[in-house]
Amino acid sequence: MEEEAFDAIIVGAGLAGCVAAYVLAKEGADVLVIERGNYAGSKNMTGGRLYAHSLEKIIPGFAKEAPVERKVTKEKVTFLTDDTGVTLDYHNGRSQTSTQESYTVLRGDFDQWLMAKAEEVGAQFITGIRVDELITKDGKVVGVNADGDELIAKAVILAEGVNPVLGEKLGMVKPKVNADAMAVGAKELIELPKEVIQDRFNLSDDEGAAWLFAGSPSNGLMGGGFIYTNQTTVSLGIVCGLHDIGSSDKTVPQMLEDFKNHSIIKPLLEGGKLLEYSGHVVPEAGLNMVPKLVDDGVLITGDAAGFCLNIGYTVRGMDLAIASGEAAAKAVLTARANKDFSAQGLSSYQTLLEDSFVMKDLKLYKNLPAFMETPRIFNEYPKMVADIMQSMFTVDGSESQPLRKTLMKHCKEVGYMNLIKDGIKGVTAI
Ligand SMILES: Cc1cc2nc3c(=O)[nH]c(=O)nc-3n(C[C@H](O)[C@H](O)[C@H](O)COP(=O)(O)OP(=O)(O)OC[C@H]3O[C@@H](n4cnc5c(N)ncnc54)[C@H](O)[C@@H]3O)c2cc1C
Repeated sequence: MEEEAFDAIIVGAGLAGCVAAYVLAKEGADVLVIERGNYAGSKNMTGGRLYAHSLEKIIPGFAKEAPVERKVTKEKVTFLTDDTGVTLDYHNGRSQTSTQESYTVLRGDFDQWLMAKAEEVGAQFITGIRVDELITKDGKVVGVNADGDELIAKAVILAEGVNPVLGEKLGMVKPKVNADAMAVGAKELIELPKEVIQDRFNLSDDEGAAWLFAGSPSNGLMGGGFIYTNQTTVSLGIVCGLHDIGSSDKTVPQMLEDFKNHSIIKPLLEGGKLLEYSGHVVPEAGLNMVPKLVDDGVLITGDAAGFCLNIGYTVRGMDLAIASGEAAAKAVLTARANKDFSAQGLSSYQTLLEDSFVMKDLKLYKNLPAFMETPRIFNEYPKMVADIMQSMFTVDGSESQPLRKTLMKHCKEVGYMNLIKDGIKGVTAI
């Protein structure tokens, strides 16, 4: 049986799974990827921005051949209320190294390309098959049961995404989706002519915009809105804390609809054609939700391991999925060299992660998810900023007030103590 076994079976062809397959196959390992969707990326969703650094290390210059959409050069963050918007707008015209760049991507195209790269170096790939069970022997994972077939492997890499059913069955991941640790995202892909996108978002050629919104998109609840520009489409969506949805007087689809119809957004989408609508869960509890990462014959990677960071002004899961997929593959290669696929033999996975930005960043931002629970960030502060702006820019002949008094009036509405408390909490969380 040992001779017939794959070195590794990977469950899931998202970024974590595709990268793990590429790294393993490139070193000559016998690797099989099993994906339940009809092609890599068919079930995968992202807002849209890939920070290049982790893939750049694995496939240098990947952006020249990969189906990336636009290089992000424009960053915007907007505090949005139902009828106002206050925006911080940053244009980056400076040259960046290839590891500093970031790109908008569409997962259907991008994941297929990445899986094809893995196949080119020898990985085997089957689609349309769901892994239902892991096969264990004497407490060790020795393979998978997929569509009634038993497939044997020396190691199984679980890259099954945000709902890690197999990891739960093994007892490595806490059972059931915990609403406090998750957000739900809804996204539309809207087609517009290339020139129209460039005109409306003030972009040239392959430049792209990443635009995040706090406030009314998530109905004042934990979450926000996003827009990423692609070549001939715009990715637009909202994310809202799962635990908040029960107390919301708006459904998530309604939040998305209202966001699209906001007076700032609507003109940007005018004439656009809806191509896709998708929904997905996002792991948002950071370090607190990281499960047991390695056991006898098995490793957990990507979203399945909770490797995702919502820092407020940016969401990152893809670069972490890529780096953790690489680390899992390297650990399997070490185990293969030492002929030891026990938890101990695979334990370099944990070390590689601890030494990489994945665990370092998760540790750095460990208090951020709790800070994001502060409701004022998503309701009172966007309103406060809008009120200050309105006072500053409205001249109607009534007696002007010193700016100091105007600011204090609006800050008082939120409460000075709240501002100080949230300020300290916010600064210590980042
Ligand atoms: C709304 C939203 C916006 C986001 N925005 C960003 C962003 O702008 N930038 C960023 O970096 N990150 C973002 N993220 C996070 C990012 O998309 C994820 O962190 C990333 O996709 C995780 O990749 P993964 O490979 O771990 O999982 P996935 O991409 O989810 O892949 C898991 C794969 O496993 C397959 N699978 C699952 N179970 C089985 C099974 N039993 N058998 C076979 N196959 C199986 C699935 O079909 C899927 O293909 C966002 C996420 C959402 C939802």
